[in-house]
Amino acid sequence: MPEWAGWTVGVGALGAIVLILGRWLAVVNALTRRLTEMEAGRHVRPVRTRSLGPVGRLARRFNEVAPTIESRIAKLERDGQQLRVVLGGMAEGVIAIDSRRRLLFANASADALFGLDARSVGRFLLELIRSPQLQEAVEATLGSADNFSGEINLASREPFPKPHAKTLAVHGTPLPGSPQGGAILVFHDVSDLRRLERMREDFVANVSHELKTPLASIKAYTETLLDWALRDEEVNVRFLHRIEEQAERLNQLIMDLLSLARLDSGEGIFDHEPLALAPLIRKCVESVRGRAEAKGLALDLDFGPLDDTTVIVADEEAVRQILDNLIDNAVKYTPERGWVRIACSLTAQSVSIEVADSGIGIPRDDLARVFERFYRVDKARSRELGGTGLGLSIVKHLVQSIGGTISVASRVGEGTQFAVQLPREHGSAITSTPLTPSMSP
Ligand code: ADP
Repeated sequence: MPEWAGWTVGVGALGAIVLILGRWLAVVNALTRRLTEMEAGRHVRPVRTRSLGPVGRLARRFNEVAPTIESRIAKLERDGQQLRVVLGGMAEGVIAIDSRRRLLFANASADALFGLDARSVGRFLLELIRSPQLQEAVEATLGSADNFSGEINLASREPFPKPHAKTLAVHGTPLPGSPQGGAILVFHDVSDLRRLERMREDFVANVSHELKTPLASIKAYTETLLDWALRDEEVNVRFLHRIEEQAERLNQLIMDLLSLARLDSGEGIFDHEPLALAPLIRKCVESVRGRAEAKGLALDLDFGPLDDTTVIVADEEAVRQILDNLIDNAVKYTPERGWVRIACSLTAQSVSIEVADSGIGIPRDDLARVFERFYRVDKARSRELGGTGLGLSIVKHLVQSIGGTISVASRVGEGTQFAVQLPREHGSAITSTPLTPSMSP
């Protein structure tokens, strides 16, 4: 071969190599751009190439797997989004920690429960929530392959209106990992549940005690009568009167308990109908007049703007029970020669009835509690006067069921005023469902 031919072949081969390298470089550049686009989450177009050889094969393989990778990434993002929505919408607080007890994740409920925010991530959990009980729950979860269940008490983060501890049920799940993974902790606020349980227990204890006391008296009087007193005419009549009194107390207690049970069940017990208020108030007042006069009490009734045509929509029996209870208390807790006054006023929306007395009054600290079941300022005095300690809790329940409100003001030794507002129209607040919580006063 002549020398020039050798040169020509050499230059041609070099040109071909440069061309191939150039094409490969273009493909490699295109692949790099596609990977950058993929990283940025943009849709990736296929790489056009007619190149043969390893780079061409790489580009074609890339074109085949890119849609699969894209759809997998999209699915992961959708799943992640769904998970975030689910966790964000959960009433339970969810926290994830790593093996060094650092916060990895907290959902919105956990943020609200413990006052966490985005800056909390990465910090030690026990630095963020200072609770020895939580520390125990974390250690118990991380120290075992099994799930942990327990309860912790936390001091409230909101000291107003009054500080109260929160009771949280904690469910801890260790995360797999070697030598140790982290943990997921789920918190459920059970404060209301525990408070209701305590109220229920107190209620049962109170009912048992209240039933036992008159029963014990009846038993003691009966035994004494059977022993010897039956033959003593003066004594036996007195004892029989005591037995009658105690039986009446038991009867009143059972009636009040039945009223409360009916109110708690909320089973359509009300018949809200147009009701002329003035005649009903007059009847209630007249029914206590005898007792008031026997005590030398002045009993005043001021209808104000109310007349016999003033109508509210409410259950008659409920309103009667409210008025009877309030007026009866006013007469009961007002010493001789005092006064009891019932005054009415009217607005476009409601009727207000105030029952005021010049009686013994209620100490400031007891005012808010008189509507609680079995709460009595002076137990002995209330029992002596035939009280059950349930009257005002029934009144409050009834007033709320009619969609009204009740308030009390009092000064010890000067007197007490209970004011009830009842809506004139059949308001949306009227309900036949139980008030929540069902054991509320
Ligand atoms: P009770 O059957 O003991 O009267 P209530 O629920 O009706 O129960 O009242 C609760 C407590 O509130 C009473 O024990 C009494 O201490 C107090 N109280 C209620 N009304 C009056 C009032 N008009 N004057 C003073 N104290 C009252």
